[in-house]
Amino acid sequence: MPKAFLIDTSRCTACRGCQVACKEWKNFPAVPTKQHGTHQNPPDLTHYNFKLVRFSEHMENGTVHWNFFPDQCRHCIDAPCLAASAVPGAIIKDEATGAIIYTEKSKKEDFASIRSACPYDIPRKDPKTKRIVKCDMCIDRLQANLLPMCVKTCAMGAMNFGERSDMLKLAAKRLATVQQEFPKAQLLNMADVSVIYLVADAPATYHKFAVADASDSTNAPGMTRKEMLAGAFSPLRKIAQSLQG
Ligand code: SF4
Ligand code: SF4
Ligand code: SF4
Repeated sequence: MPKAFLIDTSRCTACRGCQVACKEWKNFPAVPTKQHGTHQNPPDLTHYNFKLVRFSEHMENGTVHWNFFPDQCRHCIDAPCLAASAVPGAIIKDEATGAIIYTEKSKKEDFASIRSACPYDIPRKDPKTKRIVKCDMCIDRLQANLLPMCVKTCAMGAMNFGERSDMLKLAAKRLATVQQEFPKAQLLNMADVSVIYLVADAPATYHKFAVADASDSTNAPGMTRKEMLAGAFSPLRKIAQSLQG
């Protein structure tokens, strides 16, 4: 049975436990960084950071608001990165869980093509191994009947994981609750992804790629999978663009 995450950002306190736990499980080293005028650290996903808690600060009616967004691969159900793959066996889907996995053969892929195919700007390249890398849903843990490390670590109930049907029910229940206080609350790209985000405000107030974005697509004939995903959220995209000025 396919699995899914529900990431309930209304419960996230930005403790970054999930981000650190992911690095620890993957045995990734600490990387020197600089202060960029925000608590978000590092500034973006890297080959050593498959999970990044994004901090978005914005003004609303003269008051500063913080939105937190624990970003990671969405494990798309019909993954655009898999559709763009030119190397057999480099990007595969684990049918038991729905996890999209990049293998050793990803070294032979054209990184620019794979990254630009992703509507959430997730893939990164390891400069040493030349592999394309990203979250693998902690497939090693799942196969040992363990929760993904980021889910196991979250003490606030923001990170949830289980059967997709159960996560969809939980998502609907939490949405109804959160909407009582935040009428703009919504679930992002729910039908298309295995990592479903619940946000309390407009997606653009969290992250540019909170919902599928195809703004860098070429004008090639026909609609790409990325553009289809982004099209599903075109009204939100317009809001995003207006908020980004
Ligand atoms: Fe948010 Fe949970 Fe991650 Fe902490 S561990 S940053 S509460 S999602
Ligand atoms: Fe691939 Fe991007 Fe979807 Fe992850 S979010 S499965 S990298 S297209
Ligand atoms: Fe990292 Fe595993 Fe969570 Fe993916 S599922 S973000 S690899 S801890």
